[in-house]
Amino acid sequence: MSIDTSVRSLASVQLREEILYYCRESVRCGLNFNTQGNISVRITADDGTEAVVITPSDVRYDAMSPEDMLVVAMDGTVLEGDLLPSTELPVHLAHYRRRPDARAIVHTESTFVNVLGVLGQQIDPVLLNMVLYAKGTIPVMPFEFSTNADFGRRSAELMGDDVNAVVWANHGLLAVGVSLKLAFKVAVAVEENAEVLHHASLSGVPNVLAYDRIEIPEGARLP
Ligand SMILES: [Zn+2]
Repeated sequence: MSIDTSVRSLASVQLREEILYYCRESVRCGLNFNTQGNISVRITADDGTEAVVITPSDVRYDAMSPEDMLVVAMDGTVLEGDLLPSTELPVHLAHYRRRPDARAIVHTESTFVNVLGVLGQQIDPVLLNMVLYAKGTIPVMPFEFSTNADFGRRSAELMGDDVNAVVWANHGLLAVGVSLKLAFKVAVAVEENAEVLHHASLSGVPNVLAYDRIEIPEGARLP
């Protein structure tokens, strides 16, 4: 489809392109394979109404275009778009409801997150990037099918208010951020951390970092 320029879309072309950029980046960074994963961004209309822009279901990232993104109301009603929204839309909406600070969600199915997930092991922060962006230990949801709102509510509840990600055992990771750029940084940082944590744990007891004990120097720029 093409965007009907006579009706102004709630989602700018720039935002649609940014979502597509991070979808493709997730494959390039080894966080997703094939059509796995999904991304959404919360938007606020001029009248204060909130909605979510989300990737379509079952479309290859290299075949996806900015016009394929769907705009969905917070109750799940599709406002714009011809394709079906990601099957995990109800889960994204539940997370947005639980965390007003979350402006973007990145779901990935990366390897080392899943290595620890299938073992039921939470992901402790052992790298600076992870502790800065994910802000603490990432909890693990026991395995279950992840496409309904009830799963989403419990996933959001388990994530809580203090950390920015949750692992779904035998499936992948959901990361949130105040922007799409930051939610993506969380997903990358957690995967890198999971890989190092896995390897380090085979040789000894890794030094785990605590976010509230990290002293960030005044004016320091984050990595
Ligand atoms: Zn998934």
